[in-house]
Amino acid sequence: MTPDDLAFDQRHIWHPYTSMSAPLPAYPVTSAEGCELRLASGERLVDGMSSWWAAIHGYNHPRLNAALKRQIDAVSHVMFGGITHPAAVALCRKLVAMTPQALECVFLADSGSVAVEVAMKMALQYWHAKGEPRQRFLTFRNGYHGDTFGAMSVCDPDNSMHSLWKGYLPENLFAPAPQSRFDGEWDERDLAPFARLLAAHRHEIAAVILEPIVQGAGGMRIYHPEWLKRIRKMCDREGILLIADEIATGFGRTGKLFACEHAGITPDILCLGKALTGGAMTLSATLATRHVAETISNGEAGCFMHGPTFMGNPLACAVAAESLALLEEGNWRTQVAAIERQLREELTPCRDEPGVADVRVLGAIGVVETRQPVEMAALQRFFVEQGVWIRPFGRLIYLMPPYIITPEQLTKLTRAVREAVKNPAFFRA
Ligand code: PMP
Repeated sequence: MTPDDLAFDQRHIWHPYTSMSAPLPAYPVTSAEGCELRLASGERLVDGMSSWWAAIHGYNHPRLNAALKRQIDAVSHVMFGGITHPAAVALCRKLVAMTPQALECVFLADSGSVAVEVAMKMALQYWHAKGEPRQRFLTFRNGYHGDTFGAMSVCDPDNSMHSLWKGYLPENLFAPAPQSRFDGEWDERDLAPFARLLAAHRHEIAAVILEPIVQGAGGMRIYHPEWLKRIRKMCDREGILLIADEIATGFGRTGKLFACEHAGITPDILCLGKALTGGAMTLSATLATRHVAETISNGEAGCFMHGPTFMGNPLACAVAAESLALLEEGNWRTQVAAIERQLREELTPCRDEPGVADVRVLGAIGVVETRQPVEMAALQRFFVEQGVWIRPFGRLIYLMPPYIITPEQLTKLTRAVREAVKNPAFFRA
């Protein structure tokens, strides 16, 4: 890429959550292999992000590439209305087999945010079909579920600036974020505000929606599994649906295949995305119980009212089925357990730094929460100079590497984080 390409990028191309008038630098990646990103300059960076939870098997994986090439030569895309194809059937067979038994009916869509829209719409249609329309969702503060309007309406109201959309965004119900930590004692008092909200609005609430165990982009908080058991019980008692958004946590990231397994619960609706394709393409899946699917289908509309153009895209399905085949071989369990041990050992010393508020680790997720927000451009440059790709935000520096990372590569990442938190220049005063 030439300097002119980079200047064009800065002037004309929007990047995620980035200003068009004062854009932060974007680093040009020309290829990637295994656990390394290669920059146009030839530098190689160890990847600590898995491209936002997605590239769990690393980049340029020969089996994922081969699955894509096979599918390209058969058919890259065909409409899903009135047509099916082997890649979608193979993928959905695997999804139905690997998720809890009650989740039988799969809706394929384009991205995580759309999976959440689909889940919320399913809950609304479910109650409409029961002749008892309900239009509110109960969730936690500090949640994140995507950037489309339905999803935003259940994201943390402050982080996602609900003030900007006042009057347009549906007003949902927010309980305080869970306080009982995953690795701490369960505090019964934690539950009270949530239980009160649920009781007060029990005839209005269509569903509870949450990120099980790990609240991701809304704060990288890791909470006690007892929360999920108790919420499942409350929802059962009131007949309220439970939507688990496992778009970030799914496919082994927390040490279990799905984070709900930490609590042994089954949601009524499950959202999957990100690592579904091993990070090769965008695809999401929303799974529902047969009861939910049939109630919707027997309602006034006679069907679920959704059907995107690229639903069940064969290329995405083929690569997802291959990514799931890699997971089924089971190496991820030892890989994620080893990453967890190493992250604990090598990030825990950050706790001794005065600028660090907390360190938390679960599965292949390591989080260092700082006291002050990071100076993004300076810290990003430092990480690149150290030969690592780590993308902090706010007061969070976190690692979620591909499962195939070697111990040496992981040490390179953790060493860079330990060095960074020692230097006040990387944090706002
Ligand atoms: N839900 C969760 C828990 C997520 O972490 C994300 C993405 N960060 C989404 C939904 C939205 O997914 P996408 O960015 O693919 O729309």
